[in-house]
Amino acid sequence: MCKKEQGHTKKVQALDAKEKKRYYRKNVEFFKLLEKIKLWPSRSGTLHGIKTITIRGNTAEIVTHCNERFIVRNSRNSRAARWLRNKWHLGICRACRVPEWKLEKYSATGLNQFYGSNL
Ligand SMILES: [Zn+2]
Repeated sequence: MCKKEQGHTKKVQALDAKEKKRYYRKNVEFFKLLEKIKLWPSRSGTLHGIKTITIRGNTAEIVTHCNERFIVRNSRNSRAARWLRNKWHLGICRACRVPEWKLEKYSATGLNQFYGSNL
């Protein structure tokens, strides 16, 4: 975690007490981002294509194109959120067959711009 992020985490925690509602809205952005880009970086660094995402409060059920089903917790500071922001991945899931255009869009789109929209 870089200094900037640490500072941000502290800020968010401080805000959390006073502005619960606002904090929640910010957190929802992570799911919105997933809905938008339809890509999921797994723990091993493989990028999967998201088939469906079902948001249930502070968690979301994700089903990938390779039929992996799992629950993710909503956190913009999670590993996945960080990987997506930094566009890190080690490989692409073959079973998901993520189309080339989607990957190009992913690497070309300013995700930080998207994330920063509500700061
Ligand atoms: Zn996959």
